[in-house]
Amino acid sequence: MARLIFEKSQKGRRGCLLPATGVPEIDADSIIDSSLVNEEDLYLPEASELTISRHFINLSQKNHFIEKGFYPLGSCTMKYNPKINERIANFHNFTRLHPYLPINCTQGSLEIMHDLQNYLADITGMDSITLQPAAGSHGELTGMLIVKAYFKNKGEKRTKVIVPDSAHGTNPASARMCGFDIIEVKSNQKGQVDIHTLKEMVNEDIAAIMLTNPNTLGFFEEDILEISDILHNAGALLYYDGANLNAVMGLVRPGDMGFDIVHINTHKTFSTPHGGGGPGAGPVGVKKFLESYLPVPTISFDGEKYCLNYNHLNTIGKVRSFYGNFGILLRAYAYILSMGKQGLKQAAMDAVLNANYLKEKLKTAYHLPYDYQCMHEFVLSGDRQKEQGVNTMAIAKKLMDYDVHPPTVYFPLIVSEALMIEPTETEPKEVLDEFIETMLGIAKEIEENPEQVLSSPQKTPVKKIDEVLAARKPDLCYKPDNT
Ligand SMILES: *Cc1c(COP(=O)(O)O)cnc(C)c1O
Repeated sequence: MARLIFEKSQKGRRGCLLPATGVPEIDADSIIDSSLVNEEDLYLPEASELTISRHFINLSQKNHFIEKGFYPLGSCTMKYNPKINERIANFHNFTRLHPYLPINCTQGSLEIMHDLQNYLADITGMDSITLQPAAGSHGELTGMLIVKAYFKNKGEKRTKVIVPDSAHGTNPASARMCGFDIIEVKSNQKGQVDIHTLKEMVNEDIAAIMLTNPNTLGFFEEDILEISDILHNAGALLYYDGANLNAVMGLVRPGDMGFDIVHINTHKTFSTPHGGGGPGAGPVGVKKFLESYLPVPTISFDGEKYCLNYNHLNTIGKVRSFYGNFGILLRAYAYILSMGKQGLKQAAMDAVLNANYLKEKLKTAYHLPYDYQCMHEFVLSGDRQKEQGVNTMAIAKKLMDYDVHPPTVYFPLIVSEALMIEPTETEPKEVLDEFIETMLGIAKEIEENPEQVLSSPQKTPVKKIDEVLAARKPDLCYKPDNT
C-alpha cells in the first residue's frame, strides 16, 4: 500500500480546477532573467483533493492524541483541551497582531495579558507574575536566575540548591545551569520530604529548595509549612514547580504554603494541546520582595492605559522575545474564564477522585509501593510482573494495542519499574473502567502467557522495535515494507 503522498501521485491529477481568469497568459521566460528560471520539473506530488484529505487524515491517526483515546501520562496532565480555547486563540484580532505594533494599537491584548497575570497571581497566591517564560523548565531557569540575582544583590554567597529524590529531572538541571550545586534530600516512607534529613542539610550555603507539591509520587507534602520555616529561618528561598497545580488549583495556593517563586505550566493545568513538543508557557510568580528581579517586560496598568513595564530595578533581563508565547497564554486565559473559580476547584477535585479510583482498583494486580490516598496521580511498580518476565516497558507497549497511551514509565526514579498514572478530570467513569479492565487483563495475561505480552505492540504502525538501536541509529529512511 502506498504510504507517501509521492507514491500516491498521478501525473496530471489536480486538487481543484479553476475557471479561466480572463488575464492573458505570458511566458515566464519573457519577464524573468533566463538564468533564474528552473529548467527541471519540480518534484511535487499531484493528487486530487480527496486523496490528499484521506492521506493526511490517515497520517494524523497513526499517532495518539487525547481526542483519539485515553492518555494517562503521569505528571503531564494530558487533559482534554476544549476547542473553544482554540477558536478564541485563532481570532484574527489576535493572529494578525504584529509584536512591533505600538502599544496604543494593542491595548486589548495587553489588557488580556494583564488580567491573566492577575488571575495567575490569585490562583498561586503570589504578588507579581511574568508571562515571558516559554515552558515549565524555562520558568525554572528564570526562577533560579532570580534566586541567584537575589543573593548576589544581598552579598550572600549561597552555592547549593536542595532537590528531593522524587523531583523531575529539569529541577536539578535548571539549578545547575545557574551554577548551583545540587544536593538531594531523600523521601521518607510516606513518599514525602524527610524533615529530619532536611533539617540537617540546611545551612547558610543553601540558596533554595525546589519542590513539587503535590510531588511526583502524587502526594501532598504535609509538612510544607514546617519545610518553609526551616528554609526561611536559614535565609533560603522556596521554589515551587507548578507542574502538578492541576491537583490543587482553587483549593490551596503555593503562596500560602510559603513558596517565594512559582512556575505554572499553563499547557498542563490550563489546557493547551501539548506533548508533541508543541509550544507551552511557563509564567513565573514571585512574592513582593522579589518583584524587582522579574524579567522584563511585565504588563502594567497606569490608570489609563496598559503598558509594557521595563521598570524592574534588579531585573534578570529578558528571557524571551516579545510577549512570551502569546497564543498559549490566550488559551490559558480562555480556559480560566470559561471554568471560573468554582469550575477550576471542581476540576482539581475530580482529577483527585479519578486518580484515587484507578489506584484502588489497580493495586489489586500491581504493586503500589506507597499505599496512601493520592492527589491527581499515583505510581505503581511493575516489580511483580517483572518477576514473571515482563517489565514495565513491555506493559507500556502492550497498552498501545488497546489504543491507550502508556503512562509515564521509569519515573520517578525512586520507584523501580515505575508506572506513573494520571487520568485527569476530563475522563468519564466508563473510560476509567475500561482502562482498569485492560490493565487487569494485561496482568492476567502476564501470568498466563508472558510471551504474548512481550511481542506487543502488534496493532501500531510501527511494531516492536529495538529501543537502543532505534535511539543510537535512528532509521529515518522510508522503506515500503518496513514494519
Ligand atoms: C512537565 C514537568 C516539568 C517541565 O515542564 P515543561 O513545561 O515540560 O518544560 C517540570 N517538573 C515536572 C514535575 C513536570 O511534570
